[in-house]
Amino acid sequence: MTTTGDVQTVLGPVAADQLGFTLSHEHIVCGSPGVVRAWPALYGGREALLDRARAILVRVREDGVRTTVDATTFDLGREVDLLVEASRASGVHIVAASGMWLAPSPAIQVRTTQQLTDWFTADVEVGLDGTDVRAGIIKVASETELTPMEERILEAAARSHAATGVPILTHSLARVRMGEQQAAVLERFGVDRGRVVIGHTDDATDIDYPLALLDRGYLLGFDRLPNGRLPEYGTQTVEARMDMLAALAARGYADRIVLSHDDPIWAGVLSDEDQRRHIESNPDVISFIPRTILPGLRERGVSEDDIEAMTVRAPRRWLAGG
Ligand SMILES: [Zn+2]
Repeated sequence: MTTTGDVQTVLGPVAADQLGFTLSHEHIVCGSPGVVRAWPALYGGREALLDRARAILVRVREDGVRTTVDATTFDLGREVDLLVEASRASGVHIVAASGMWLAPSPAIQVRTTQQLTDWFTADVEVGLDGTDVRAGIIKVASETELTPMEERILEAAARSHAATGVPILTHSLARVRMGEQQAAVLERFGVDRGRVVIGHTDDATDIDYPLALLDRGYLLGFDRLPNGRLPEYGTQTVEARMDMLAALAARGYADRIVLSHDDPIWAGVLSDEDQRRHIESNPDVISFIPRTILPGLRERGVSEDDIEAMTVRAPRRWLAGG
């Protein structure tokens, strides 16, 4: 097995073979730009938030996870200092994100595509938000339709990926096969398909969609696994998501799939009621995969080698290349 260089985490470069069991799409906080600093009472204060983050990360580390990718972009209220403190306090590697989610603000929307490319590249090569903490992934997002702004962000991400070698993560809507529209744009700019995770593919109800993306050379994010318990994420139950994972593994695709929860420790983009429903539906938070999904896959006959492929080798290849 080949692995290449280091991966940038919030505490500096980490050798690819030290990443271990990696969750591909998580969040310490997930809100709007500046809200964590402006409104601490909203989430119980910074100290309580860090206590909660530390407890959840220490627990998942005891469950075997070594690395999480924090998919919080600027427009989702990225807080680099929180990521640094949470990583230090827990011993879990955290990889931070450049790029953009669904809510670019006016000052972002008027930038040229070249400016966006340069910004994402500086996030990777210099540091995020005025710090020297460098991004390890570039995120892009689109849902029911690909807007002109989202298309420009995809182009900027593809160009920055080509310049820096940092991989891409997408937020997409499986119901409309959005990953294929994202892929079409990324391919116009010569993206390395093996370094792109098409995210939220586990919402798909029909295996044809993930198979088409795999045939095309992409990695798949099965990264909303606990949300099978909540109706707003579609009709795929947790059981159905595990069935599809087992079916894809049986076809030899385990090394092209990465796993995660997308279950923020503070989910500021959700109402307080929806945050309560999320926690009630999955009290294990980001320990759900080690505690529920992996045993469920073993029951379905998925081999230990295939589980290692999904939890260690595929995310390592995505993040580090090789
Ligand atoms: Zn997310």
